[in-house]
Amino acid sequence: MTAMPRPRGKLTENKVLSDLTWLRVGGPADFLFQPADIEDLSAFQKALPAGIDVFPMGVGSNLIVRDGGLRAVVVRLGRGFNGIEIEGNRVRAGAAALDAHVARKAAAAGVDLTFLRTIPGAIGGAVRMNAGCYGSYIADVFVEATAVTRAGEIVKLTAEDLQFQYRQTDLQHGCVLVEAVLEGPSGNPEDLEARMIDQLTKRDATQPTKERSAGSTFRNPAGFSSTGKSDDVHDLKAWKVIDDAGMRGARVGGAQMSEMHSNFMINADNATASDLENLGEEVRKRVFQNSGIDLQWEIMRIGEPISE
Ligand SMILES: Cc1cc2nc3c(=O)[nH]c(=O)nc-3n(C[C@H](O)[C@H](O)[C@H](O)COP(=O)(O)OP(=O)(O)OC[C@H]3O[C@@H](n4cnc5c(N)ncnc54)[C@H](O)[C@@H]3O)c2cc1C
Repeated sequence: MTAMPRPRGKLTENKVLSDLTWLRVGGPADFLFQPADIEDLSAFQKALPAGIDVFPMGVGSNLIVRDGGLRAVVVRLGRGFNGIEIEGNRVRAGAAALDAHVARKAAAAGVDLTFLRTIPGAIGGAVRMNAGCYGSYIADVFVEATAVTRAGEIVKLTAEDLQFQYRQTDLQHGCVLVEAVLEGPSGNPEDLEARMIDQLTKRDATQPTKERSAGSTFRNPAGFSSTGKSDDVHDLKAWKVIDDAGMRGARVGGAQMSEMHSNFMINADNATASDLENLGEEVRKRVFQNSGIDLQWEIMRIGEPISE
């Protein structure tokens, strides 16, 4: 066994990840590392043997971790990485700050980042995924980010470095985002608060927000953006082509396509990661047979299947 660095933060061997994902599935990571602060993270990454993979994880709201787990060190940021500071229209948020907290704190200070209010992730995941909602994406408000590279260097990243696209960026493998600066337009705090309440109400009426899900399962199929910005509209809806293929409510084991929103996959009854993934692949197959459309996963699937 390779000798592991001894950080100040918490390093746990063989940590089952199902508790850390919204879908409540996933086998063990070789290690889970919760760094004390940025210097601890940097020193750890520097000292970690080059052959060991690092996977940064937010709150697991866009992930299927496979049942065999992850041969990697999973880095999960917590306290020490969740500060939110506001100066003028600029919001500096730690990567572990929840999107909803950032939206509410910004709104109270008269800065409009309301689109983040209903996205259940944290800021690191939001930047990495170019998260978006209600016609606005992270790419629209992004100023810069701070990250620790796999080699342990602390670097500033610009939009140019990240190359925002629809629900993805070019963040280097093993690079952990620790902070982002976002700049939103001005707004009246009461209006912004009212808008967020309205968004939450709409979302609860149309999406299975009380179920275990990971948001949209597949990308909307049509249109594509080279900028990742909101002026690029995706017309053809994934839920519609899934409905047309008769897959609303379809099940594999404990996994189900939601009756409420057919592009949401839910862990309805003790599903395994393999139930969820097999259901997704069945949906892709049926949609392709029905309409010739090759749906692309939006949920990230990581790790290894369980070995027989
Ligand atoms: C009910 C529900 C509704 C949703 N609605 C939306 C929506 O409207 N719009 C939307 O865009 N998404 C939505 N999502 C998906 C999800 O919330 C977003 O993709 C979110 O940005 C993921 O953040 P996370 O912290 O959970 O990241 P995770 O799921 O933990 O990770 C996702 C990716 O981000 C990377 N990552 C996470 N943190 C870091 C970090 N610190 N440094 C580097 N990389 C990191 C991971 O390596 C992984 O590649 C929804 C999900 C659910 C469950």
